[in-house]
Amino acid sequence: MPEIKTKLPRVGTNIFTIMSGLAKDVQAINLGQGFPDFDMNPSLHEEVSKAMINGFNQYAPMPGWMPLREAIAEKIHYLYGTNIDPETEITITPGGTCAIYTAFTSFLQRDDEVIVFEPSYDSYVPNIEINGAKAILVPLKLPEYKIDWEIVDKVIGPRTRAFIINSPHNPTGSVLSADDMVELSKRVKDTEIIIVSDEVYEHLIFDGIPHQSILRYPELFKRSFVCFSFGKVYNCTGWKLGYCVAPAAMSKEFRKIHQFNAFSCNTPMQVALANYLNDKEAYQSLSGIMQKKRDHFTSLMNETRFTLQPSFGSYFICGTYEKISEESDKEFAIRLTKEIGVATIPVSAFYQEGTDNKVLRFCFSKKNETLEKAVIRLCKL
Ligand code: PMP
Ligand code: GLN
Repeated sequence: MPEIKTKLPRVGTNIFTIMSGLAKDVQAINLGQGFPDFDMNPSLHEEVSKAMINGFNQYAPMPGWMPLREAIAEKIHYLYGTNIDPETEITITPGGTCAIYTAFTSFLQRDDEVIVFEPSYDSYVPNIEINGAKAILVPLKLPEYKIDWEIVDKVIGPRTRAFIINSPHNPTGSVLSADDMVELSKRVKDTEIIIVSDEVYEHLIFDGIPHQSILRYPELFKRSFVCFSFGKVYNCTGWKLGYCVAPAAMSKEFRKIHQFNAFSCNTPMQVALANYLNDKEAYQSLSGIMQKKRDHFTSLMNETRFTLQPSFGSYFICGTYEKISEESDKEFAIRLTKEIGVATIPVSAFYQEGTDNKVLRFCFSKKNETLEKAVIRLCKL
């Protein structure tokens, strides 16, 4: 067998795969990997079936089904007041993960530096490194997981090619404020720095807080790839459809990569989403639904010895188990899955050096009965 020299020497199987596999093996309740255990809106199933029956079964255009791109542009205008050209500035991708990978691959050169805030979603650093570039890791300040802009000032320099930001944030549920956007603007003004903005949780933001999309800020947007996922908006994570919004010249480079790593995406689902996106209520009701789940889970967890940290968005809330155990978060998460029957994600997995603050991530985008059953088990600790 030919030997392969690995391109990602520090990478193994990712934590979501490990914890979901373990949860399945021992039949634990899975509050680990971020996916809903309730079904999506059935009218979307119908739209997909209709599209298939109506013959939308061959390749979609390379940048995406035009009516879907038009519907996205309209939604962006409605939400953020920005005019986006669906012809040149929106590309449909196989999920948010692929949009982020393609964005990095379209501009990173060897030895470029990208500022990454930790904890961070697990794909960012490998995406950067596979392109020969270097991730410059900046810790978020605990307990609120806020950006410390003074640390940013210490690491930003002539090699800095990009920032990756993520709000609402996975794994912590923290969100960027308008002040953060001002601070970011100050750092990138008059530089060649690009921003990759992961906004897959754009509609999962709570307590009436406005989502600080890059798309609200023309001066930032002109240097940004903004990445989204339909999986999170419509509770269909298995559909793996997303999109990237970027200025025309940047989208042109993005599409050079996209056409050779995907070419185009699933046609009937794009047709279905194009129709469904016109229903504003479907995406605007999401934050209320998910906020109720966060609140329900938070009040249930008061009966346990975990201490939850605040979550302002996403599918996730983090909690420390300091009062329960001194084990490492990985050991504890594995024991919790096997002995108590609840799978979670150890937050050290979101740090390159495995920083262990004894914090677990819980996914609350589950049926209320799932959350209730899980917490009954967690009360045993
Ligand atoms: N970014 C973040 C922060 C995520 O949590 C996820 C998880 N799904 C993604 C990107 C990827 O989205 P998708 O499933 O559409 O690839
Ligand atoms: N985004 C989800 C999470 O953070 C799952 C992504 C994945 O399995 N790669 O749990």
